[in-house]
Amino acid sequence: MTPLENKLRKIIKADGPISVSHLMRIAANDTDYGYYQSRDPFGTFGDFITSPEITQAFGEIIGLWCLTAWQNAGCPDKTILIELGPGRGTLMLDILRTVKKLLPNFMESIELHLVESSTMLRQQQRLTLKNYNVTWHDFINTIPEGPSLIIANEFFDALPIDQYLMTKNGWHKRLITLDPKRNKFSFITVPVPKKKVAKFRSEISKAETNSIFERNRLAEKYAESLAERIFYSGIAALLIDYGYVKPGFGDTLQAVKSHKYYDPLTDIGNADLTAHVDFANLESIFKETGVAVHGPVLQRNFLTTLGIEHRTMTLVKNATAEQALLLIKGCQRLIAPNGMGSLFKVMAVTPTDTSTPEGF
Ligand code: SAH
Repeated sequence: MTPLENKLRKIIKADGPISVSHLMRIAANDTDYGYYQSRDPFGTFGDFITSPEITQAFGEIIGLWCLTAWQNAGCPDKTILIELGPGRGTLMLDILRTVKKLLPNFMESIELHLVESSTMLRQQQRLTLKNYNVTWHDFINTIPEGPSLIIANEFFDALPIDQYLMTKNGWHKRLITLDPKRNKFSFITVPVPKKKVAKFRSEISKAETNSIFERNRLAEKYAESLAERIFYSGIAALLIDYGYVKPGFGDTLQAVKSHKYYDPLTDIGNADLTAHVDFANLESIFKETGVAVHGPVLQRNFLTTLGIEHRTMTLVKNATAEQALLLIKGCQRLIAPNGMGSLFKVMAVTPTDTSTPEGF
């Protein structure tokens, strides 16, 4: 058993079975052994790789997008630039370098705020962004008001979901318990009143037997806060993640370690636990708040419209042969029609009186 699994065993022994969201929260953020608290998971030698770690062109294109969104909003004097879950800080570094070079006026308007739960990754971000003034937050609500640009790449997939299973006898919630004989964790289900589940979404009534419905309460909280901020103060938010566009059912809980998929209940704390993002739900929350929603579009379409291939070829001109190959391969990977290019979706939120942002 991993040290975290021992801790979980004690929790379950004392308090009974735990929900999937409780498991995800502990697995990611336990102060001693949580996945994000105890390691830097990114890169070829880590567990997974994200777009900004694949090629600098990704962050540069997002920087360009921020710049056009700022112009669309009438170039406000002050811009609260927010990143949710900044990982190593690479994306923000690439955004800031681009903005500084292309539009110094915009750079001068920026006040930088990062939302990050991992102490270890905060330290990494501090190093990466050592030339900038940064304020960290545990949640988006503590960030000062003002025209805001909010960026989130692979943030919403890391937020904890709960799972509900439709059985022949009605809705059940999935919990995790410890099988004392085998000393292994396993899923069990307990009945939940239909009335409670029906409140989550209207589509719930269409569920067939064995359907799994996933609810992400924290993602909903973030979506509300983010939309209110854009509604009252502008400028825009950009969310990039893997997920589904239409409301649906299915088990999307996944564990990734060393670039491979694992059973979510083995080696807990040593694998990254995530779930697909429910873009339809985010969209309905945004619309309820009264902001305009753009997309989701495929990452491939978004990045190519904003010129990632052109930018890559410009970078290649000043690169060594080895760097050039990495840049080209990186760009191809991000826009691959059968890979990241279509798995990842991009959604933007703006006030309703702003013109459609670039790439949508
Ligand atoms: N955006 C980065 C990293 C994505 S990984 C990139 O593209 O490379 C997810 C990030 O979200 C990590 O920085 C992780 O520590 C952070 N995170 C996960 N859950 C969080 C939470 N509940 N609150 C704040 N940050 C969280």
